[in-house]
Amino acid sequence: EKLSSADAIALEDKYGAHNYHPLPVVLSKGEGVYVWDVEGKKYYDFLSAYSAVNQGHCHPKIVGAMMEQAQTLTLTSRAFYNDKLGRYEEFITKYFGFDKVLPMNTGAEAVETAIKLCRKWAYEKKGIAEQQAKIVVCKNNFHGRTTTIISFSNDEDARKNFGPYTEGFIKIEYDNLQALEETLKNNSDIAGFLVEPIQGEAGVYVPSEGYLAKAKALCEKHNVLFIADEVQTGIARTGKLLAVNHENVTPDILILGKALSGGAYPVSAVLANNNIMDVIKPGQHGSTFGGNPVAAVVAIAALEVIEEEKLAENAEKLGVLFRDKINEYISESNIVTLVRGKGLLNAIVINDTEDSSTAWDICVKLKEHGLLAKPTHGNIIRFAPPLVMNEEQLLDCVNIITSTLKEFEK
Ligand code: PMP
Repeated sequence: EKLSSADAIALEDKYGAHNYHPLPVVLSKGEGVYVWDVEGKKYYDFLSAYSAVNQGHCHPKIVGAMMEQAQTLTLTSRAFYNDKLGRYEEFITKYFGFDKVLPMNTGAEAVETAIKLCRKWAYEKKGIAEQQAKIVVCKNNFHGRTTTIISFSNDEDARKNFGPYTEGFIKIEYDNLQALEETLKNNSDIAGFLVEPIQGEAGVYVPSEGYLAKAKALCEKHNVLFIADEVQTGIARTGKLLAVNHENVTPDILILGKALSGGAYPVSAVLANNNIMDVIKPGQHGSTFGGNPVAAVVAIAALEVIEEEKLAENAEKLGVLFRDKINEYISESNIVTLVRGKGLLNAIVINDTEDSSTAWDICVKLKEHGLLAKPTHGNIIRFAPPLVMNEEQLLDCVNIITSTLKEFEK
C-alpha cells in the first residue's frame, strides 16, 4: 500500500517522538545525487544525510557488498570472530595510517569511545591522578547526543534539563590558540583536546589557516592527545580524505562515522596507534553490533569508492566552483552576506538574525524548486551534496539556489 506524503507525515507525527523538525518531504528512493519523494518528484540532495552519503545514494558497489554479506552472515557479536572483520581492520588502518582500529556503529558512540580511550591513556600512560583527567573541548561543538557528549554542548536545546552532566571537560573558544595554550599551561591534568577540524553543526565554521597544525603542536608539547572528530568532515567531504590533511596534521585519535559506510549502514570507527590503543583490554569496551561483518564489507567498499572515483579531488574542484558562483551572486545581492566552507562542505549566511526563520523559508522554497538543504541556524544554510556530483549538476544546483534566493531579495 502506497502512502501519500501527508499520510506518512501524519503517522510519524502521531506515533514517533517529536525529537526532530524535518522539512515536509517524504523520500522513498535515492540514486547518486538524486532522491525522490513518494509522489515521484525528483530532488537534488544537498545535505547527504549530514555528510553521510558522500558516495551517492545506493552506490551499487556498496549496496552490492552489503546485500551479498546480508545473505551470508550478518551478526556474530564479538563473542566470536567473524571472517570479514580482520580484513576490514587491516584495510582501514592501512588506509588512514594507524596501527589499530576500534569499530563502533554511530558517530556519538565513536566519540564516547575516544573519550574513554583518551582518559584511560591519561591514567595509565601519563600518570594523571584517579578521576582527575580533563578533556579540552570547543565552544559551539557538536559531537553527538549522548549524556556525556551533551554535558559539554552549549546548545541549550541539546543540553537543558538532561542533567546531571558528566564532569571533566574544559570548554574554550574554537579557533583560539591562545586559549588553548593557556589552558594547557595552567592545568597539568589534561588528557586530550577534542576538536572538529571544521565545525559542521555550528554552521560550517572554518578555523583560521594553521589553527589545527599549531593546536597539534601545542598538544604535543604538553603531552596531550589531539583527538580529531572527522565524523562530518572526513571521507573526502572537504576536498581531502580528512580535513586535517589540509594542514598535514596526524591526530593521535581519529574519529570516523557517517560516510564510512556511504550512508548504507551505521558504521563508525576510532583509530589510534598501539601506544594509545593498547590501554584497552578485553572486556573493557564494546558493542554488540560494532565490527559486524556487514559493516566490515560495507566500509571497505565505501572507502574503495572514495579512491576509485577520486571523490576528494572532485569535492575540491566543485567546492571552489560552488563558492565562486555563490560569491558572484553575493556581489549583486543583499540577501546573502557570505559563503564559507571547504570542498563540498559549505554554508551561506543570510542577511538576517540568528533566530529568524528566513533560512527555513528559503529551504522550503528550495524544496519546491527541487533541491533539499537544511538550515543549521535561523540565518545559516548548510550545503553538502553527495561528492559524486558532476560539474553540470552542480551548476544546475547553483541556478536553483541563486534563483530561489532572488525571490527573497528585498
Ligand atoms: N561528530 C560530528 C562532528 C558530527 O557532525 C556528528 C553528527 N552530526 C556526530 C559526531 C554524531 O554522529 P551520529 O549522529 O552518527 O551519532
